[in-house]
Amino acid sequence: MTGKGSGRPARHVPQRHVPQRTCVVCRRQVDKRRLTRIVRTADSGVLIDPTGKRNGRGAYLCDQASCWDKVIRHAGILNGALNAQVTEAELAAIAADPRRPTPAEAG
Ligand SMILES: [Zn+2]
Repeated sequence: MTGKGSGRPARHVPQRHVPQRTCVVCRRQVDKRRLTRIVRTADSGVLIDPTGKRNGRGAYLCDQASCWDKVIRHAGILNGALNAQVTEAELAAIAADPRRPTPAEAG
């Protein structure tokens, strides 16, 4: 191949193949099934992608309530991760999503 300098790091193959992604807030590597994908679509703006298959730049959010809190309160996190301008309405939709974990200490 002539693909010199394509920048792909040599990947080390783990023993078990469990796909992992990094949470945009806490930067932890988490099992993909425990993450929620947020995607920036061309036609519908920034939204939660329950299928994980929509086209567009994506960011992953883990199942910690504190991480959801942060992306909802600080639009800059998603703006940076998605290279987008997330609107208040989009953040409100994420905040209202049923996948949002509830804080353990709620009461
Ligand atoms: Zn997180």
